[in-house]
Amino acid sequence: MAIIVQKFGGTSVATADKIRKAAKRAMQAVKSGNSAVVVASARGHQTDELIADAMELNLNPPKREMDQLLSTGEQQTVALMAIAMDAMGQPAVSMTGAQIGMITDGVFSKARIKSIDSDTIRRHLNDGKIVIVAGFQGIDDEGNITTLGRGGSDTSAVALAAALGAEVCEIYTDVDGVYTTDPRIFKKAVKINQISYDEMLELASLGAGVMHSRAIEFGKKYNVKIHVRSSLADVEGTLITHEVPQMEGILVSGATIQRELAKIDLVGVDNKPGNAAKIFAHLAKHKVVVNDIIQTERSAEKASISFTVGKNDLSDAKKAIDEIKNAVHCDSVFAREDMAEVSVVGVGMRTHYGVANIMFDALAKAKINIDSITTSEIRISCLVERSQGEKALETVCNAFQLDRPVDKRTY
Ligand code: ASP
Ligand code: MG
Repeated sequence: MAIIVQKFGGTSVATADKIRKAAKRAMQAVKSGNSAVVVASARGHQTDELIADAMELNLNPPKREMDQLLSTGEQQTVALMAIAMDAMGQPAVSMTGAQIGMITDGVFSKARIKSIDSDTIRRHLNDGKIVIVAGFQGIDDEGNITTLGRGGSDTSAVALAAALGAEVCEIYTDVDGVYTTDPRIFKKAVKINQISYDEMLELASLGAGVMHSRAIEFGKKYNVKIHVRSSLADVEGTLITHEVPQMEGILVSGATIQRELAKIDLVGVDNKPGNAAKIFAHLAKHKVVVNDIIQTERSAEKASISFTVGKNDLSDAKKAIDEIKNAVHCDSVFAREDMAEVSVVGVGMRTHYGVANIMFDALAKAKINIDSITTSEIRISCLVERSQGEKALETVCNAFQLDRPVDKRTY
């Protein structure tokens, strides 16, 4: 019998009615001849509420106790869903992360999964039960409850699907799939039918917020087919899979914008080994997370280094640079906090030319100045002034026809 893993996010289990609907989905999968494993998140905003409860008592709560506390949100959902299934005559059993042997390392609040004992789940499935597993949590070698980081139920679900060799991991959410871009900015955005793990990872790291990126990494590593779909409507969503040959023809799958960026330029740094290392070691010491880095040689003696950071990190970054600038003989430092970055992502870029030029040309025609450009094998990003960010995103979406399904695009 094929095993299907179905994950329901917080909004999809927020009320009794929604829990019943989710339960029915799993029961439908069983009626169609499969074994079903459900992974559920805490209901609605419960995780946020539990965090607020803790903060009222202690502004710096012990991490172990936070994990102990937050794991209870998911535990409630799974018990309630089993109770709902029982009322509908469906044999079911709810399990915590510990009960299914989801072993993690001991890093509270961002634990990583080490192993899963799938035997317990299989035994219940063989008894004809639906197994409902609390997402987001595990247990370390010492028996402490751990959590996997915010949004971590996705990762629980994909990891379970991998361990069980499930046919598919369905991620049920309140949107009907992954869109070519944020429909709140580009209203004509369309749903993507199929996307590769690599593209999805890039989109997630660029802030497209659809899925926990660890979940996508797991999916890629263990080849788990992931289907992101709506818990409200019965329509096909977005399939995240390994790269298939027809994807090569798709130059751009999606576009994103990161609005809150700042940039620092170090102009005229001594052009010699070790200076970049000095600068970025010092930034790391100040716990500044650096996005993109560009270094160019200006002459035999001098180089320039620019980098972007989140706007909130700018003051820490400036402080770090002020402390280190003399050590690298930097002539001058400029900082700007009004930047945004627009990116396009597509595996087709690996094998096609002319993608960058479509993007730059469209931005030029829209009179948007590109401050700097960075790329990966499957991504091109342009830094622009924040006031022009949304216009830049729309411009790029129009240029790559992200309002059309892939087979209707004409470039
Ligand atoms: N309940 C957790 C959170 O809100 C985990 C999840 O929803 O995936 O982050
Ligand atoms: Mg979530």
